[in-house]
Amino acid sequence: MLATMSTPIATPYPHLLAPLDLGFCTLPNRVLMGSMHTGLEDHARDFGKLAEYFAARARGGVGLMVTGGFSPNIRGWLKPFASRLSSRFQVGPHRRITEAVHAAGGRICLQILHAGRYGYHPLSVAPSAIKSPITPFTPRALSSGGVERTLRDFARCAKLAQDAGYDGVEIMGSEGYLINEFLAERSNQRTDRWGGSVENRMRLPVEIVRRTREAVGREFIIIYRLSMLDLVERAQAWDEIVALAQQVEAAGATLVNTGIGWHEARIPTIVTSVPRAGFSWVTRRMKEQVGIPLITTNRINLPEVAEYVLAHGDADMISMARPLLADPDWVAKARDGRSALINPCIACNQACLDHVFENKRASCLMNPRACHETELVDAPVTRKKRFAVVGAGPAGLACATTLAQRGYAVTLYEQSNEIGGQFNLAKRIPGKEEYAEPMRYWGNLLTEHNVDVQLGTRADAAKMKAQGFDAVIVATGVTPRDPHIPGSNHPMVLGYHDAIAGSKPIGKRVAIIGAGGIGFDVAEFLTQDAPSPSTDIARWTREWGVDTTFEQRGGLGKPNTETSPREVWLLQRTAGRPGKRLNKTTGWVHRAALKAKGVKMLGGVTYERIDDAGLHVTIDGKPQTLAADNVIICAGQESNRSLADELQTAGVTVHVIGGADVAAELDAKRAIKQATELAATL
Ligand code: NAP
Ligand code: SF4
Repeated sequence: MLATMSTPIATPYPHLLAPLDLGFCTLPNRVLMGSMHTGLEDHARDFGKLAEYFAARARGGVGLMVTGGFSPNIRGWLKPFASRLSSRFQVGPHRRITEAVHAAGGRICLQILHAGRYGYHPLSVAPSAIKSPITPFTPRALSSGGVERTLRDFARCAKLAQDAGYDGVEIMGSEGYLINEFLAERSNQRTDRWGGSVENRMRLPVEIVRRTREAVGREFIIIYRLSMLDLVERAQAWDEIVALAQQVEAAGATLVNTGIGWHEARIPTIVTSVPRAGFSWVTRRMKEQVGIPLITTNRINLPEVAEYVLAHGDADMISMARPLLADPDWVAKARDGRSALINPCIACNQACLDHVFENKRASCLMNPRACHETELVDAPVTRKKRFAVVGAGPAGLACATTLAQRGYAVTLYEQSNEIGGQFNLAKRIPGKEEYAEPMRYWGNLLTEHNVDVQLGTRADAAKMKAQGFDAVIVATGVTPRDPHIPGSNHPMVLGYHDAIAGSKPIGKRVAIIGAGGIGFDVAEFLTQDAPSPSTDIARWTREWGVDTTFEQRGGLGKPNTETSPREVWLLQRTAGRPGKRLNKTTGWVHRAALKAKGVKMLGGVTYERIDDAGLHVTIDGKPQTLAADNVIICAGQESNRSLADELQTAGVTVHVIGGADVAAELDAKRAIKQATELAATL
């Protein structure tokens, strides 16, 4: 049985829940909500929404939070008119945030972020006029007067944050932004006192911390986010990073947070295929070198993982951003013995970082309320209604659990013997092991809220009508599209479901028809035997070429990809290289992983026929035969709407959600959002 709030429990997370004494204040636990830009920072008119977003996490017990980045001046903008705190007139709106957080019993720091050459605007500045590989604008090199002004702007921004009621600031010194650019030779080719020698290159961050401390006095938190692993060429050496940490401590920092990888690095650092806690070893290396507490980060999503990292002495605190988007009550649930009910971050980036990079407001695939706390509100139940939900994929599960949490009686029908729908395929893909967690979460929620779950039950329109439900929500999902290629009934042809479920043996040479998200997933499945390196930090770092010995600057070694057990062709009809439509912040990882495995990714393909010789295609007008042992169809899907149509004909009130509603470009983000929004209004 789960313990309630008032039940005293021997916590399984003693390190995670231990207070942390900072000298002038004590944090209640070791959880830092790391900085994450949500898009709400960019307009003061949205600060009411931002205030509720943070207040919800403060009520959920987070020890300390950090806002998204605010630039100390215009030149440091992330994009034109982006978040900035540089004048007294901007202080007032911030008080809405700090007052809401303090009223909820929390603490919050403002992150000061100067974008440097990552600024997506023509006014950007940097140590030297060297364009970054990921932005179109060449920055102007700061003059020495400009450096002085920047220092003043950082200190003034911190003072304004203090005046606005923040408990501290985080100085963003990592991820390849301005401060990091000063530290590395690749972006700093100055010959004045701000460049050249190691001492000169680290002068800017140390001065920023020193002047910030001078401006805010002793009893104000200063977190310095230190790039401990740049993962780019001509970056910092380990002894330089240690020296900087020590100088930052001496200059007055309260805490040092860990930064991993510049944004232009081509090694993944946070996507779902990165092993859990895959970088806490970096913070551990720094542990003996400084006296102030260290915060570690990246791919720590559940209390067990956080506790393990802290108990092993890798760090004093854990920073999490996305897991707290997924569940504002993460800490409270861990504290109160309800961690089985934590809504997991699956590190997909689909609604958080992908949105931010598309200039949309961030949210969370698993929790569409994130950053919409004032808008997506569960209306109170006025009359106890009875609902049937048909289909226990992500859409059906999100709908059933939301309705049940609101107090309605819900019956959930699922024709297979398990909940999860297509997530049960996703969790079998190497690097997507995290996709098992939502089923743990939804399964426990169904039990907690007494949903009547009917597995192995095919819903029948006549029987459902007879039950007299107030409404039936149809979430019957999709069926794979038949591409109608001559020979597609040949025994060598498999659907993606059979391929991933492992219900049929697959040969050594495989052609995949369709290069969408599922085609890529199938290619990863075929080229990597289980267990995948994503479950083993040492294998994963070898595979991607992370130099854990730090013999190379930036920790950048040589990738050492494990050989694929199969030869694979990944095909699409559209001209150009497959994978262009994959998600913004994760697509490059999938493309790079398959390239390293030798997968032949081909566009502009016409499928002619399938026979004993393999798959016959025409590419650029030339006929070819791909001598495949198997052809796997991943050609998209079509809605499964027959039950919805039958129910409607029978006069039952029906709502259709998820893939059953619209199959084109279906993804779990849209399905869960639609389901949650519907359930909030019924
Ligand atoms: P999809 O992304 O729409 O891709 C379908 C693929 O099939 C395309 O490559 C398309 O390319 C091809 N195709 C379409 N009609 C065809 C036909 N008649 N004959 C032959 N080929 C055809 O669909 P999906 O791969 O099934 O994925 C479904 C959804 O799940 C997508 O929204 C996807 O984003 C999501 N998903 C996401 C991930 C992820 O990692 N984020 C993973 C899995 C799935 P051509 O038309 O060029 O041939
Ligand atoms: Fe995590 Fe995905 Fe939600 Fe982002 S959208 S917080 S990565 S589950």
